[in-house]
Amino acid sequence: MSDDDQELGITESKEHSPGDWYAEVVQKAGLADYAPMGGFIVTRPRGYALWEAIQDNLDGWFKETGVDNAYFPMFIPESYLEREKDIVEGFDPEVAWVTHGGHDELEERLAVRPTSESIIAPYMSQWVRSHRDLPLRVNQWNSVVRWEATETKPFFRTKEFLWQEGHTAHASDEGAWAETTLRLDQYQRLYEDVLGIPVLRGQKPDHDKFPGADTTTTVEALMPDGKSVQGGTSHHLGQSFADAFDITFSDEDEAEKTAYTTSWGLSWRAIGALVMSHSDDQGLVLPPTVAPKQVVIVPIWQEDTKEEVEQYSAEIAAELEAQGVRVHFDDRDGRNPGFKYNEWELKGVPVRFEVGPNEVEDEEVTVVHRPDGESTVEDRADITARVHDHLDEVYEKLYDAAAERLDENVREASDRAEILGTIGQHGGYVKAPWCGDEDCEAEIKDQIAAEIVMVPLGEDSAARAASEFEGERVPEPDHEGEDCAVCGEAAEETAYFAKSY
Ligand SMILES: [Zn+2]
Repeated sequence: MSDDDQELGITESKEHSPGDWYAEVVQKAGLADYAPMGGFIVTRPRGYALWEAIQDNLDGWFKETGVDNAYFPMFIPESYLEREKDIVEGFDPEVAWVTHGGHDELEERLAVRPTSESIIAPYMSQWVRSHRDLPLRVNQWNSVVRWEATETKPFFRTKEFLWQEGHTAHASDEGAWAETTLRLDQYQRLYEDVLGIPVLRGQKPDHDKFPGADTTTTVEALMPDGKSVQGGTSHHLGQSFADAFDITFSDEDEAEKTAYTTSWGLSWRAIGALVMSHSDDQGLVLPPTVAPKQVVIVPIWQEDTKEEVEQYSAEIAAELEAQGVRVHFDDRDGRNPGFKYNEWELKGVPVRFEVGPNEVEDEEVTVVHRPDGESTVEDRADITARVHDHLDEVYEKLYDAAAERLDENVREASDRAEILGTIGQHGGYVKAPWCGDEDCEAEIKDQIAAEIVMVPLGEDSAARAASEFEGERVPEPDHEGEDCAVCGEAAEETAYFAKSY
């Protein structure tokens, strides 16, 4: 980074211009740049490291629970995609097409995958023969392309995005539902235990499900600007894909049965939610769980103290590293400590150690937390043990702030004016009784661009008991005697209205 970059620092305000602020943080913290083609970004090493941290966690949990990784081609023959279009009402993604190979026009156009159901399902059909082949679980880490013309927003709105897509087949409906909620659990765990972001867990209203799905479940994260981010979705596809692609098996009695399938995906939008949730007007703020460097050591010296301060700092760095802490000792000569503080604040290092002649003499270390600047002095002898407490404390500060924001921003409304007024004034989620009719959502959408981001999850009690998460934030509501807040007909669900990314 040059001096000029730092003089500018972050110039936009998170509170007053969140969109410009976000774009500035992403670029100045070195996460991403804009590509020459609209709708595409270049993910820089510091940004890609965040994706790798997400991958490491999810991939480990997937493998612990029976998932194998595989890889399918990025191109899908048009006839395959058409097959999905024929059977799945509403499946009409904006697709990029390959029409030429070298100098020759292709006999059949190839779609750049917008999602891979239509090329994976035919292979599942070949691989599944008997009940002994089930459950079949494959996942792929890849990118997909959806040619939607919107303004580029790194990690939130891009034509190509990184994600994982899991695809499974099961012998029973219950097995497929358990799979659907298990993956939703893992997405929730990623947000809450790794990214420091509490989520609401629910399902999409019927009119907003993944085309062909029985149920689309979702985790929703509230951003500080009051909008909801769909953080990951897990679809119970029932038998629609298995019927269309002939995924059948012979059961114990040699009877031919149709399988049940699921698919589930989480994209780099999680990086966007991470950046937006925790960062501030000084720059990026990261939880220690995913930060490429968790601790930076900044030495403070005059010529006559340089040697002892640097030696003391280097020893601490070596000790931390031996403890598995990701530490950086910033011993650059040409930069003063203030410059270094600003730079590492901008780049989101969670904990800073300051070491000067006083620390050396008193055998201490000054420890500063990135999110709130809290500063404490620790004994040198305790530092390798205490550093983990500091990293945990930083995580808790970030999680607690996000949880408090979520708690304060779920409000209730009982009529149309109240829905509009509450979202208009506060943002966040507004819970309202709803009849289930899409027209009632359209009325709200037309006026303030808020939609129903979820309704509570209709989990059966067995799935709920098996779940690691109780879903306590979204209890199953009782609609006895309640009327739809929009049209006044009998309510069937509790709708969570919010503006959405
Ligand atoms: Zn209604």
